Amino acid sequence: MNQNSGILLGDVPPEIFRLIEPKGIDHQRIQISIESDLSLDGEITPNWLIIADSQIIGVNPTADAADRVLGPFQLENIEKVRVFQGVGSSFLQIRTERLFVDLIRFSNARREEFNRVRLYLEDIIASKKASQEIFSQPNPWFCENCGLALPGRDAVCARCAHQGGLFSRTLSMMRPYLRYVIILLVMMLCGVSLDLVPPYLTRILVDDVLKVTDASTFASRNALLLWLVLALVGASAFRAILNIFIGRTSASIGTRITYELRRQLNKKLADLSVDFHDRISAGNLMSRLLHDVDYFHGFVQQVAQGFFVNIFLIVGIGFMLFKLNTQLAFYVLIPIPFVVTGTWFFYHIIYPRYYRFWDSRSKLAAQINGMLSGIRTVKAYAQEAREQARFKDTASYLRNSHRAVDLSTSTFFPIFGFIFGLGGFIIWFAGGKSVLANQMTLGTLMAFLGYLGMFYAPISALTMFSNWLTGFLTAGQRIFEIMDTDITVKQPEKPLELETIKGKIEFKNVTFGYDPYQPVLKNVTLTIEPGQMIGIVGKSGSGKTTLVNLLCRFYDPQQGQVLIDGHDVRTMTNVELRNYVGLVLQEPFLFRATIAANISYGVPDANPEQIINAARAANCHKFILKHPSGYDTQLGERGAGLSGGEKQRISIARALLCDPSILILDEATSNVDTESEQQIQEALAVLTENRTTIAIAHRLSTLKDADIIYVLEEGRIVERGTHEDLMALEGLYHKLVMIQTKLTKIED
Ligand code: ADP
Ligand code: MG
Repeated sequence: MNQNSGILLGDVPPEIFRLIEPKGIDHQRIQISIESDLSLDGEITPNWLIIADSQIIGVNPTADAADRVLGPFQLENIEKVRVFQGVGSSFLQIRTERLFVDLIRFSNARREEFNRVRLYLEDIIASKKASQEIFSQPNPWFCENCGLALPGRDAVCARCAHQGGLFSRTLSMMRPYLRYVIILLVMMLCGVSLDLVPPYLTRILVDDVLKVTDASTFASRNALLLWLVLALVGASAFRAILNIFIGRTSASIGTRITYELRRQLNKKLADLSVDFHDRISAGNLMSRLLHDVDYFHGFVQQVAQGFFVNIFLIVGIGFMLFKLNTQLAFYVLIPIPFVVTGTWFFYHIIYPRYYRFWDSRSKLAAQINGMLSGIRTVKAYAQEAREQARFKDTASYLRNSHRAVDLSTSTFFPIFGFIFGLGGFIIWFAGGKSVLANQMTLGTLMAFLGYLGMFYAPISALTMFSNWLTGFLTAGQRIFEIMDTDITVKQPEKPLELETIKGKIEFKNVTFGYDPYQPVLKNVTLTIEPGQMIGIVGKSGSGKTTLVNLLCRFYDPQQGQVLIDGHDVRTMTNVELRNYVGLVLQEPFLFRATIAANISYGVPDANPEQIINAARAANCHKFILKHPSGYDTQLGERGAGLSGGEKQRISIARALLCDPSILILDEATSNVDTESEQQIQEALAVLTENRTTIAIAHRLSTLKDADIIYVLEEGRIVERGTHEDLMALEGLYHKLVMIQTKLTKIED
């Protein structure tokens, strides 16, 4: 069978052609063929979806004869197409004659490809034209470079990041400190050489000074003894001084690098768009910023005191051993396999237990934190006993994991110590025999044993080096992953820098989904004139907040444009945009700071008079003065110390102080009682004057005076008009109002 010109995602096997040909589909005219990994029943077997000749057909070659082919369906008869997401797998469904049909099932690994088929079909439904362009775009779930599946959409490929020279990047971070690094290396070399001196001196001491049979005078020996001991003292003093310098230098370089890295990371985290923060939890990012960064400190220490020192030590000591006595030096090599195996055993069997121990410790911390911060809820529901039981579980996990670590280390280390001593026993025996046979001096044996004592530790440390390296690479990758993540909401290169704005807002054919395949807003178009007050209503989850998110440019739409005064928001900087648009949210976020600092958060250099004016206008002044410290009252975590309504009024004062031309109120009064609401409404009345206002309200009665009310349903605007218009229409708005009036009556 020859290939055709269509898009092939996987080679279509001939048996598939044989199945579709009786249905009148010519394999020469296949436009799109795509392989799935699941049958409709969920069995793991290759299935096919084929589009040819304006028809679409699903094929399951392993099914019963009657079910092997689904379709064909005429493309022109398709009314709608969707991907129905199940657990672990999804269905591509088409609707013909008002019924949805499952065409093909696929695992999440194939989600990108099938969603492209969906987009392709949607294109056909909408425009009757098919564009195969969509299939040629790179797949954001796979690394463009090496084809490896990524941990998330558009994430950084671990394999390529490693290849991208983690080491060279780390070294380039060290470039500013190159001078110090060289000094470190030199000092370290001196240190290692110094380490080799004492055993050598011991040899002279034993052979030339302490040996009783020698002929030289008592006085000259005494003098030599003094000199040798002084030299030993000098060597170890010098070594101590070197250690101080090496330690201090590496600490100061290490902390400087981690400081610099944390600073850069923190800036990047603040710059990264909201979608990144949706995807990666704060806890995860915190652990990267706190723990992973420390590996870079470790890197400096490895350079200064670890890796190279050990190599030099092994080479230097090895050289001395062979120089002193070649035969004995070979005996020294015997325990090396045990040392290496023992170290390997430690890192693969015992060290992982530390992870469990650390994990259990952080779990316990998280649990205590959870209980203490929710202590009111715990008490309100009298769940102290349950919390105690949960604590017991976690605490015993900690106890067990801690015990496992301690038990195994207290068994392992003595054994390891014994292995380290093995070489010594061999040398005592073999060397002792040589000394007795007068083939070697006692001094040489002593020197030999001295070097031997320093020999195995560096070997063991070098064996651990690969573990350290793995840890470092992982940590480095986790850090550079953040550094390399694209900021999806990009700042314009040449910002507009408008002087002032009038406050006209337009949404033009905006389509947006947090997951691009699940649009939340669908083709939304609306225009708000300067100074208008508009209301947005709709059920929870209909996309109201999403609309606001786009206007504030927390996200960029996948299609369409959001304009302010005729300019795309993408041409404005964040700072500009925040000056134009003020946001009052359902749950005001107050910082752990004074009331004044919270009000002036957006305008840090505001003077006290401005702050008080804003507070007055927002109905805050009175209750603030009730606090003994007034505006300097320190608020707790998340504004603790104020009631919900008070917090909300503070956040309104905050927005007022910024004096934005556009104001967004996203369910600003939903969480407060009626009395507070009234005061907030008064505050809002001041705030909304002379501004374009978008009010999203849960209580529809608050929107009666809006110039226009938009009704959202499943991401589409289904009704628009004044309160009276919409009531007369007797549509969704009317229904929502009726529900609420009934509820209010019941409450009465
Ligand atoms: P509402 O009209 O209640 O304000 P939203 O605009 O907040 O609705 O949400 C619309 C839809 O988008 C909901 O189905 C919600 O689950 C989803 N959604 C909201 N925020 C996110 C997010 N950060 N990531 C993924 N989905 C989201
Ligand atoms: Mg909302």
